[in-house]
Formats: sequence, C-alpha cells, structure tokens
Amino acid sequence: MSAAIEMRDHRLPPEQVPETVVEILPAAERARISARIRELLGQQGAVVVAHYYTDPDLQRLADETAGHVSDSLDMARFGHDSPARTLVVCGVRFMGETAKILNPEKRVLMPTLEAECSLDLGCPAAEFSAFCDQQPDRTVVVYANTSAAVKARADWMVTSSSAVEVVSFLRDRGEKILWAPDRYLGDYIQQQTGADMLLWQGACVVHEEFKGLELAELRAKHPGAKVLVHPESPASVIRQADVVASTTGIIRAARELDADTFIVATDNGIFYKLQQAVPGKTLIEAPTAGRSATCKSCAHCPWMAMNTLTRLQRTLETGANEILLDPAVIERAQRPIKRLLNFAGERRRTIYGAGDA
Ligand code: SF4
Repeated sequence: MSAAIEMRDHRLPPEQVPETVVEILPAAERARISARIRELLGQQGAVVVAHYYTDPDLQRLADETAGHVSDSLDMARFGHDSPARTLVVCGVRFMGETAKILNPEKRVLMPTLEAECSLDLGCPAAEFSAFCDQQPDRTVVVYANTSAAVKARADWMVTSSSAVEVVSFLRDRGEKILWAPDRYLGDYIQQQTGADMLLWQGACVVHEEFKGLELAELRAKHPGAKVLVHPESPASVIRQADVVASTTGIIRAARELDADTFIVATDNGIFYKLQQAVPGKTLIEAPTAGRSATCKSCAHCPWMAMNTLTRLQRTLETGANEILLDPAVIERAQRPIKRLLNFAGERRRTIYGAGDA
C-alpha cells in the first residue's frame, strides 16, 4: 500500500533540461581522434568504461581497447576487476561516482562532469536526508541513479533488475520502504511486491516521454512485434510490455525471445549493442510523440550525449574531470551498495551484469 503522505513533484522542470546535442564529425576526424585516444589510453594504463546510452564511437572504442560497455553497476564491477589504474567513465556523473565508491584507490575520469541525470538532480541530498529524517520507521531504498551523498543516506541501493527481489525481501521482514528517486520505477516495484512504499516523485526525462497511446497504435501496425520496456517508463507503457527489464535485460530478451521485430522503450543509444546482439532482427524505437514541443530528449539522454570523442581526448590529455569524493562519503555510500552485492551473493545469483539504467 502506498502511504498517503504528500510529496512534492521532484521532476526536473523542462527549462533545466539541456538540449540533446550530438557531436557530428567527419569520418576522418573521428578516426584521427580515436587513434589519439587509443594512444593516450595505452600511455596512461587507462581503460574506457562506457554506458549503453553513449555514442557508438565511444562504445566501439571501449570494446576495441579492452574496456567495457554495460550498465552502471556492471561498469563499476568491471572497473574493480580491471588492473587499469585509471578508469575513464563515459556516462553520467553518478556512474563515475559509483565507480569511485567501489574503487577508491583508482583515478576515475569522465569526459565531462556536466553530464548529470534528471533522477540524480531531482533528489538533492540535503532535502532527501531531511525527508528521511521525518520517516524514521521506513527503510531507505535508493536506485543506483543517485548521487554518492544520497547513497550515503540510504540503507539499500538497488538496480532495476534487483529492486523487486530486494523489496520483496524487506516486505517479508515487515519493513516499510522509503523509495527514491524514480516514481515510475517505484510504482512498478510497488505493484510487483505489494510492499508499503513511500515514493519520491522524481522521473527520468527520457523514459517519461514514452507514450502509451502512440505505442498501442505502433503495436497495431506490427502485431508480431514484442515490446521491451525499461521500468523507468510510465505505467501506460509498462502495461503493454512483453518484457520489463534493465538495459542488460532488454538486450538479453531480444536475444532469447522468438520474435523478428522488437519495439524498444529505452534510450536509443542501446540500439548499437542491440543491433550487434540480434543482427537481422527489426528494431523499432517506441514513440515519444515525435520530435514535437513536448519531447525534448526524444529517446536520447541529453547528458549522455555530452560524452563526446573530443571531450574524451581532452580529458586524457589534461587529466581534467576527475571524480573526487570525501572519504567519509565513500565509506558510508559503500554500505548500501555492498548490502545489495551480499544479498545477491547469498542468493547465489549475480546482480553484476543484470544492471540498471
Ligand atoms: S537516461 Fe534518464 S535515468 Fe539515464 S542518465 Fe539520462 S536522465 Fe538519467
């Protein structure tokens, strides 16, 4: 049962959402910069760890230079296991922070520190902490898409693939949940578990734009298509899903399901890896009401798009954009993350690689 406590809307106002600007370079220039990045990575003993939503050039570079492309927790896991001294995280800031929290001894760089996330921005640590203080009887469970400071205030961190299982476990222990920051994912978890959850009212500006009515029309045009949906999407979209899953789960479902056509409701950056995973199958973007006034990111995260080849080269040349965190915050933020990892270990299953955003 959701508690009837008034919660203010923590979605980011449109004016605070940047335009999605994709770097377009001639092929020769891309090749020149990529070659220079390879050289710098080798000189510095660094690896690129990229998220599925980033530019295909960055994902290709990561793949071809012994780096890694995945979801955020798996990115952090890779960073931990890698012998590299420097991790260059291509993604958004909370991913760089998570990599640092799990690998405090390593240097963690990012192409830009301005790559934020609407979920992270919509959950300021001081306000969140004060709200938690008002709900002392609730277990604080936060999504991976939060700042280090918010994780430091939490009892548990979960990913989209582990959230239902963790919340079910807590419900069975009689615990009531304070969930943050994504209201759609929180609503989905509440529906799945029946747990008593108080939901912070944040949202992802990309997934919130997927539209239920237009999706129904698209499905009617492609009756054989399976619908793969990330649970940060609105309930009207989730209701039509054949599979609700994390980014890694969406790629796995496309591989395993017996269908030739998939309609995919998540950031279209994932299509680079999806096409590699299921060559020959037809992949269609779920509708975001088109490139209209109401659609600012149009299925591509404006902050992910800030990760460009040019910025990556500059970062490696200057050492700029290092993730630096207070050691006390690192220590506190490790606790909710390690709880999740221990939980997964106790159940003899791997959360790593079955990630989140
Ligand atoms: S796609 Fe959404 S959840 Fe992911 S980084 Fe962008 S704003 Fe955040």
